Amino acid sequence: MKILVSNDDGYFAPGITLLAEALAQLGEVTVVAPERDRSGASNSLTLDRPLTVRRAPNGYFSVNGTPTDCVHIAVTGLLDFTPDVIVSGVNLGANMGDDTIYSGTVAAAAEGYLLGIPSVALSLTSHAGAHFESAIGIALQLVERLSRKPLNEPVLLNVNVPDVAPEELRGVEVTRLGRRHKAEPVLKLKTPRGETAYWIGPAGAAADAGPGTDFYAVQSHRVSITPLRMDLTHNAQLPTAQAWLAD
Ligand code: MN
Repeated sequence: MKILVSNDDGYFAPGITLLAEALAQLGEVTVVAPERDRSGASNSLTLDRPLTVRRAPNGYFSVNGTPTDCVHIAVTGLLDFTPDVIVSGVNLGANMGDDTIYSGTVAAAAEGYLLGIPSVALSLTSHAGAHFESAIGIALQLVERLSRKPLNEPVLLNVNVPDVAPEELRGVEVTRLGRRHKAEPVLKLKTPRGETAYWIGPAGAAADAGPGTDFYAVQSHRVSITPLRMDLTHNAQLPTAQAWLAD
């Protein structure tokens, strides 16, 4: 099995190294990841300049672009094979609810999904990074299962693993995305030259976080697995829009 590993925290991040080393048990691993932290890059592609790829001493490819760029160029020209599966992570910090819109971790996996490759986004739900081994264990289980029991349709799984020891995990739950409250206000700063600058604040607290959501599963020390799609069509609102535009 050929496994492509990417992330948004950068090719040097502890999460990607641990993930790539562990997945080598299951197949041939190639790492293509951003040269620096691009968390929050979402699904952006770099179109206004060419991208360069460097080979790190450990064999990882680093790209001066976004997570989406990394997977895109890996699959469409950098590599001489098509990966069987793509795993993005392990991100330091949760990607639940509305986070998935902004996440570069999810975006790297989404790019794989859009290119027709089964893809998994994997996040450890705290910035402490105390128990990467829990996320790594789940990654191994999921990739092994995808290989043994492939799904007959394109698959994009958003996985959030509580940052607790493996023996404290209380199983795996298939969830829907919850929702957050609106983001915290921006921080206003004065620059040394007297201008006002704005630093985007943290995501809001969980709002829709009841049973069945990713927030609830993680709160309960369960691994949250949400199957995602990229079609943003609001199907229930089609008749409303049609009626609104009629006459
Ligand atoms: Mn990140």
